[in-house]
Amino acid sequence: MSNEQIALFTIFGGTGDLAQRKLYPSLFRLFRKGFLKERFAVIGTARREWSHEYYRDIVRGTIQELEPTEKELADFTSHFYYQAHNVTDTEHYHNLKVLATELDRKYQLDNNRIFYLAMAPNFFGVITEHLKSEQIITENGFNRLIIEKPFGTDYQSAEKLNNEIRAVFEEDQIFRIDHYLGKEMIQNISAVRFGNNIFESLWNNKYIDNIQVTLSESLGVEERGGYYDKSGALKDMVQNHILQVVSLLVMEPPAIFSEKTIREEKVKALNSIRVYSEKEAMKNFVRGQYGPGQLDGKSFISYRDETNVEPESQTETFVAGKLVVDNFRWRGVPFYIRTGKQLTEKGTRINVVFKPTPINVFRDPSENACDAEDIPRNILTIYIQPTEGFQLTLNGKEIGSGFNIDPIKLDYRHSAESLDNSPEAYEKLILDCLQGDGTNFTHWDEVAQSWRIVDVIRHAWDKETPDFPNYPSGTMGPQCAFDLLSRDGFEWIWHPDEWYREHGKL
Ligand code: NAD
Repeated sequence: MSNEQIALFTIFGGTGDLAQRKLYPSLFRLFRKGFLKERFAVIGTARREWSHEYYRDIVRGTIQELEPTEKELADFTSHFYYQAHNVTDTEHYHNLKVLATELDRKYQLDNNRIFYLAMAPNFFGVITEHLKSEQIITENGFNRLIIEKPFGTDYQSAEKLNNEIRAVFEEDQIFRIDHYLGKEMIQNISAVRFGNNIFESLWNNKYIDNIQVTLSESLGVEERGGYYDKSGALKDMVQNHILQVVSLLVMEPPAIFSEKTIREEKVKALNSIRVYSEKEAMKNFVRGQYGPGQLDGKSFISYRDETNVEPESQTETFVAGKLVVDNFRWRGVPFYIRTGKQLTEKGTRINVVFKPTPINVFRDPSENACDAEDIPRNILTIYIQPTEGFQLTLNGKEIGSGFNIDPIKLDYRHSAESLDNSPEAYEKLILDCLQGDGTNFTHWDEVAQSWRIVDVIRHAWDKETPDFPNYPSGTMGPQCAFDLLSRDGFEWIWHPDEWYREHGKL
């Protein structure tokens, strides 16, 4: 059976950063693997006046790293066309329609269309409205819309945006990208849980003490200061990526692994995360902003000194919080999350911390207290990036006389070779969209509930002036993020800063 997918891509924002860094290389990988062959075409559109040839040269440049042959370059880029277009100008849609019809005929595209909005969300409404009014949406092929985050800036704006899009596209035609959901190991969370009885049978409040999700970035805002200063870590990371990861950890096993059932379970999971009162939000969520710092001989400036950031900015570059899940399975198990910029080390990982054994049979017989608090916990670590794999911490006996417990780490990381061959997140997601599979995209009810959870925290924070900056660049965030766990008798399992400190690098 042929894997070939048939479609016309129209990329709005075709000259932009996302298109050049992610979309063109991903399309090329799909081309190389035979998912795209003869029957595809790409229209790049943006305001600049480019020729087809100039556009093809740009596309060629974006895939150089993949070391294409001359023939591959020529074949692939010959499917690319450019149309200058201001999305707010109705007349311009006519040109798009003419070109789309022509390409449809030339490449036999069966009227299948994918509209990729690689543009700021304030343009989504005007684009979708015109796609309909100017009849660029076809009658008898598929029509799918791919949109990028941010999806709104709060519940209200997200709902407004959604209504605009839904006036034209049905929910199952809308593919909201959260590129985290395209990552191999994120999808692997379900494999680990539902494919292993040793985990799934322990996946509840009887055996799990707490779960920790860390999305740590070692860079600052770089050139995104203008955007980031209006957004902050809560909206940029927690509302989407982190809550999506948490929903995969919290959800009940679906009856069958399909888009519909997974989505239903994820929505139920998000609905069972407690929407805090503002008072609870203040207690359970903390924020931070990086000041200057040093790590490994390098010096870093403070967030407030970054380009396009307000000198007195109160935007958080770090968030840590405790989520409470109000259902039978998770009652009493805190989910701790943290994310931040300019932290010690880049990495995304999940730590599932299991409860200790009921008693410590190895205790000194003269001691009456027999709880097992001093036996190291079993921990399942799921590494998501930059390395991908698992680690399971088990207890064994230390070699030698006496009977001392020694934690043993069973570690599995995917090999560099298998990672090189694994599809990049955008490549996977674009292929999913071509195949009409929305499993790894965010649905409206998930977006809506995520905003409800996050909005309260934002409102509560906005009523107080934070004492920023409150953590030096190169550390793992402000003290309050550590207090959040120690207050409950826990600690963060992953602490790269300790390693750096011990080695005199921090
Ligand atoms: P960008 O500024 O590099 O590109 C924006 C594009 O829109 C350009 O091609 C520009 O010419 C075009 N454009 C702007 N106004 C226009 C108009 N009136 N008519 C026609 N074209 C117009 O932005 P980007 O970094 O590529 O991001 C695009 C979207 O993707 C944004 O919503 C961003 O938040 C999101 N996003 C980007 C990344 C990334 O890695 N760059 C990651 C996640 C999400």
